[in-house]
Amino acid sequence: MTSRRRITQQAAAWAAALALAASAGCSTRPPPASPDAPPEVVHHRGDRFQNRYVEFETLGTRAFWRWKFEQWRDGLPPPSPPAPRVAADHAFLDANAAAGAAMQTSVTWIGHATALVQMGGVAILTDPIFSERASPVSFAGPKRAQPPGLALDQLPRVDAVVVSHNHYDHCDLPSLVALAKQRGGSPLFVVPLGLRALLVEAGIDRVVELDWWQSTKVEGASGPVEIVLVPVQHWSGRRLDDRMRTLWGGYAVFAPGGSFYFAGDTGYSPDFADARARFAPRLVDGGFDLALLPIGAYEPRWFMKLSHMNPTEAVQASIDLGAKLTVGIHWGTFPLTDEALDQPPKDLDAARVARGLRDGSFVVLPIGETLGLLDRRGEATVAGAAGPPPPVPRSEPGVGQAAPPVRAARDS
Ligand SMILES: [Zn+2]
Ligand SMILES: [Zn+2]
Repeated sequence: MTSRRRITQQAAAWAAALALAASAGCSTRPPPASPDAPPEVVHHRGDRFQNRYVEFETLGTRAFWRWKFEQWRDGLPPPSPPAPRVAADHAFLDANAAAGAAMQTSVTWIGHATALVQMGGVAILTDPIFSERASPVSFAGPKRAQPPGLALDQLPRVDAVVVSHNHYDHCDLPSLVALAKQRGGSPLFVVPLGLRALLVEAGIDRVVELDWWQSTKVEGASGPVEIVLVPVQHWSGRRLDDRMRTLWGGYAVFAPGGSFYFAGDTGYSPDFADARARFAPRLVDGGFDLALLPIGAYEPRWFMKLSHMNPTEAVQASIDLGAKLTVGIHWGTFPLTDEALDQPPKDLDAARVARGLRDGSFVVLPIGETLGLLDRRGEATVAGAAGPPPPVPRSEPGVGQAAPPVRAARDS
């Protein structure tokens, strides 16, 4: 490599690092809420947005560099294995995608915050990232420690993609552009306010932009599936100058056979309990059937606490949501923060036991693993269940079980 090229690359790497620093750091605080603002729009602050329970102000570049210095000084994160990975069950996923009204409810962890949920006749993909790095550039920034559980071209047809916010590890443009070109036509992309333009600029045209509590629908084989953007405590930014200019959020999804909650990226706040209260009339047995909650990227707490939950807080969030089953995501894939890649499940176990949650109520999956759930209408949705021709059998032990989850038995 010539020295000029090396210098150029180093400069670009620093630019990337600074952009990421900006993603975690400096900000102009949004103006205060107007005293006359109705409750639905108190998070609108001029051309920026704000959280509901903290006047969130990112800590600034000085704090960012303090964190980076301490990380370097202490050799963090410690070397550790990434999340385990298993071969995906393509036969099941493809057959389930084609099963129409007989679709079994399932969740597949693809890595980081990317999960495929098959529910109510539709397939919804969350925060898809298939790129090698979570970064504005391809040669620098946090690098993937484990390949995706399914490659982009191995996905069954996706009906809707939900994007929680614009940080690079959640809004990966190359992945979104590739998904828009899927065989059979683009999925519907659902994004928070202000983010549509980024996707449209990239050539994606089926994009719906939502404010908190607004919703859109996709048509499933069993009827419409409603996707609602819900408030969570986080922030946004992809450059030095765009802090909190686009909205962030989680999603509550209501399908004919069940409901799920996807938190995206969030600190702990009363927003979880608020969502459960607001949707109470629609929640069978008082809670969400499935929750996908982040359990990683939480150390050091002095820097991360407002924007990233730790496993103890994630357990509380799961309780707040009344979730019958929670799957921990946003861990084990990209080394973003100070804890070891394999630390979140260990902390989660301790937190779950400390709160007396039953074993199997809040789980982690290997990357690539699919979990079958029971349908809330009371039909066993795992293989061998009654009803129209089931997808490829995959879970003997699940048949007739009283409560989700049912981890699929694997051939290998
Ligand atoms: Zn984020
Ligand atoms: Zn994240």
